[in-house]
Amino acid sequence: MNPSSLWKRRSNGSASGAAALAADWAARRSEMVEQQLRARGIRDERVLAAMSEIPRHEFVSPERKERAYEDHPLSIGRGQTISQPYMVAAMLQALDLRGPEKVLEVGTGSGYQAALLARLASRVVTMEAAPLLAASARERLARLGLTDHVSVIVGDGSLGYPSEAPYDGIIVAAAAPEVPPCLFEQLAEGGRLVVPVGDRDCQELLQIRRINGQPVSRGLGYCRFVPLVGKYGWADTS
Ligand code: SAH
Repeated sequence: MNPSSLWKRRSNGSASGAAALAADWAARRSEMVEQQLRARGIRDERVLAAMSEIPRHEFVSPERKERAYEDHPLSIGRGQTISQPYMVAAMLQALDLRGPEKVLEVGTGSGYQAALLARLASRVVTMEAAPLLAASARERLARLGLTDHVSVIVGDGSLGYPSEAPYDGIIVAAAAPEVPPCLFEQLAEGGRLVVPVGDRDCQELLQIRRINGQPVSRGLGYCRFVPLVGKYGWADTS
């Protein structure tokens, strides 16, 4: 049977209730992981497991839930988006996390990627420039019981968050015109900074490792993110 008719059948039955609905969402997640991530070369089993577990549909408005596991970015309001599942997975994989790390995320947005990071590292600091987005991300993370691992900070993430530095991983979810120097400075020796760098329409996703204090950079492909604002972002985002 085709999986979409299975979902419809299950979610129509009132007797099946919440447990069946949860199973439907889990089935969609596992299809997303197999078809969009594993089949396209995502190999980090911890990333694949986190993406099978975290409910992406809980991070969007009710009318967008149905499309939450499709192969594209999702609008989260205020001109911002959660990246396509493959892009989220590729960035997380490039952080190369094993569990004990401390990570800084720039651009909390909905909180989806922060929730995944909470599964992959032991401490997550996430920064958001828009106070309303930060407040709703905080609520969602609390509902999922993830606040012990994640702090949402309102502020200019292009400056990093020096009071908790150094970080083993830094991930930037918005397009930067150049590598923000403060972020590289706040990277621990051996740490990884993952950031899309380029112009407004097209960026290269970079993984920059700090080796003997120096940046060692590797291109991971081209992408298109919403603009980073703040000191090391674009002054005008129109
Ligand atoms: N990771 C998010 C999606 C991020 S969208 C998720 O999983 O939902 C990019 C976000 O970066 C937007 O919410 C935008 O407000 C934020 N942003 C842009 N420039 C920023 C800056 N300098 N500091 C902090 N947040 C910034």
